Amino acid sequence: MQAVRANHWFILAGLVTGAACGAVAHRVVERVPEWQPKLDAINNSLLNPIGQIFLRLLFLVVVPLVFASLAAGVARLGDPGRLGRVAGRALVLFALTSTTATMIGLFAMNIFQPGAGFDPLIRAELLESFGAEAVRIEQSGSLGGDGGLNVVMRVVDVALPRNILGAIVQMQMLPLIAFSLLLGIALGFQPSERRLRAVEFLDIIGDAMVFIVSLAMRLAPIAVFCLIFVVIARFGGALLWKLALYMMVVLACYLIVILLLYPLLLTVLARRNPWHTLRACIPVMVTAFSTSSSNATLPTTMQFSQRELGIRREVSGFVLPLGATINMNGTALFEGCAVLFIAQVFGINLPIADQILVLVLCVISSVGVAGVPGGSLPLLMVVMAQVGVPPTGLAIVLGVDRLLDMGRTVVNVMGDVVAAVCVEESLRRSDEASATPA
Ligand code: ASP
Repeated sequence: MQAVRANHWFILAGLVTGAACGAVAHRVVERVPEWQPKLDAINNSLLNPIGQIFLRLLFLVVVPLVFASLAAGVARLGDPGRLGRVAGRALVLFALTSTTATMIGLFAMNIFQPGAGFDPLIRAELLESFGAEAVRIEQSGSLGGDGGLNVVMRVVDVALPRNILGAIVQMQMLPLIAFSLLLGIALGFQPSERRLRAVEFLDIIGDAMVFIVSLAMRLAPIAVFCLIFVVIARFGGALLWKLALYMMVVLACYLIVILLLYPLLLTVLARRNPWHTLRACIPVMVTAFSTSSSNATLPTTMQFSQRELGIRREVSGFVLPLGATINMNGTALFEGCAVLFIAQVFGINLPIADQILVLVLCVISSVGVAGVPGGSLPLLMVVMAQVGVPPTGLAIVLGVDRLLDMGRTVVNVMGDVVAAVCVEESLRRSDEASATPA
């Protein structure tokens, strides 16, 4: 445990020094452009591969870990009533936090209006530079074809494919979740002895995956340094400056969610010390920040929630994989902000009724977002199209999206942890109440 704690600080140090060195490298090649190929070579042949090894080790275990922990989690819950209680509480919390987070974002965008009076020259320049990339995202999100812009149908399509193995091969998480849930429920109907044997087998698989994660986490300080360095060295300070107000508003909203909304829920619903919980999750947050991927962070989230926060496997095994896939508070918040910002830049006025539609669409579409870097962008374009904001306007914010993606992934992942802690505590209380003789 001590080693895990000490690793916190090394990972954080990797993050900070990686960002600082990346910023210095960016400045240097700005002044001496001939050094750009050298920087590219270092990034491509050394730093990026190290970062990728870490990422792959995490990604590698995601499918078996989600499958084993979710199926075992559901099967362990056993009786459908208990499963219903855990699932019901988790889903209510997911909906509550996603909606509140999105409302915070929409409110801030209306107050600060970062897109109002945006310089038309800069707008044209950004559309020119990132327009092609926006079109590629639109196409990669397979929005074309019949009714491709229908959010609900897209979510159904993604959640229930015809071929589960095909979906798993493409690492689609929603079908994997649906299948694991069904398997867990089916195991719950088996005679107790067989059910427990299956649970034990699934637990062994889960434990082995977590072991691989702990190996990967040893590499984390160096890998995090490399991942952040590569991203920051690529950034243009000028671009950040042009979109500074937009970024500041979105980042401030992330902070409000992490430092106000989550602590409030932890205090009121879980009656836990929120700062202790947040502090224990530093490695989880750093992993989310540096990988920009809820999926890649999931193994770390599971490991820390069980070991550091004392969340039982029946809860963490159910709430965390489900949350990593469908509970995207930061993504919903970000989508709302981006739609409003781009509308403001184009001088499109979205009245309150349209903004309520934006809120609903952002919350629903975030359920279908893949927990990978930039996973929300195709669905963001869908939401934009539904409220009459040109989807290719995404090009305006694309250049700075990676930074915002890092932040929203932290909000997403911490939302899952907070939900798991709240469900754990409420389940524990109802267990104690039912164990106490009247
Ligand atoms: N990168 C985010 C995540 O993995 C998804 C997104 O909003 O793009 O949670």
